[in-house]
Amino acid sequence: MINRRQFIGATATASLLGQQKADWGGPALDIHLHLRPDGESNIAHMTGSGVTKAVLLTRVQSADRSKALAEKYPGRFVWFVSADVADPESAGLLTKAVKDGALGLGEIKNKVECDGPEMKRMYALAADLNVPIQIHFGDVPQASGNAVFNGGFKRFDAMLKAFPKTKFIAHADTFWANVSSDYAYDTAYPSGPIKPGGISDKWLADYPHFWADMSANSCNNFLSRDPDFTAGFLARHQNKLMFGCDCSCSDGRGGGTTNPSPRLHGKCIARETLAAVQKMSKPQVFHKIRWGNATNLLRLPNKA
Ligand SMILES: [Zn+2]
Ligand SMILES: [Zn+2]
Repeated sequence: MINRRQFIGATATASLLGQQKADWGGPALDIHLHLRPDGESNIAHMTGSGVTKAVLLTRVQSADRSKALAEKYPGRFVWFVSADVADPESAGLLTKAVKDGALGLGEIKNKVECDGPEMKRMYALAADLNVPIQIHFGDVPQASGNAVFNGGFKRFDAMLKAFPKTKFIAHADTFWANVSSDYAYDTAYPSGPIKPGGISDKWLADYPHFWADMSANSCNNFLSRDPDFTAGFLARHQNKLMFGCDCSCSDGRGGGTTNPSPRLHGKCIARETLAAVQKMSKPQVFHKIRWGNATNLLRLPNKA
């Protein structure tokens, strides 16, 4: 027999699935939703954008808040954890958080080199703990944050070779800009046609333990550049790409957005990116990108 709370939960889930079917043809998992100061706002964003389940990116100090939110809304949340990788305590803190339920390390965004000692320690830790590590690659400083994060992306294949047991999830502007082989490292968000043969494209093909997170302006910018090229890219890497938003709008419909990109102004990145992928891929490929690949990687139930 089910109790009243479970009954209400089941009814809410059924109506949610109906909404997502209408929005995106089925369930969606957002692999890049930062835990907000008010966790209820995370739920509002998911409901507004038609997202079933989200990975809450959580600083280690806030782990209890993500755990509580996941318990309050069964089936809606899982969480990743991050810490300052330069802090010698971080490995211990992250290990404890994974034992406590974190399903991955992320997002990892620090002012270090992607092949420096701090990150090598993290790659080894992720392999030991058998969880993926989600990395922000930003070689070109953005106007909003004048720094390089996990710099040296062009050397990253040495890390892919050195850590074959680590599950890497790449994110952010330097990864997406490098789908094009002519990237000049002159802007975070290059435009215009894509020249085939870029290292991001090549490494997704060459390394089975390398995935991509499609969140933020960086991937949305990539999706908008060259639709003919991009349709082929989505089909080619259909088992490696995972939808994410990294959106800060209030309601999953673009409310309160301050995104400086004119393309995204007043819009929700989750909705814009899901709509773009839906338009450029076959239904079964879209299903993998918005749901199946992440549920496989995180060993979550395939049923919503
Ligand atoms: Zn990021
Ligand atoms: Zn949004």
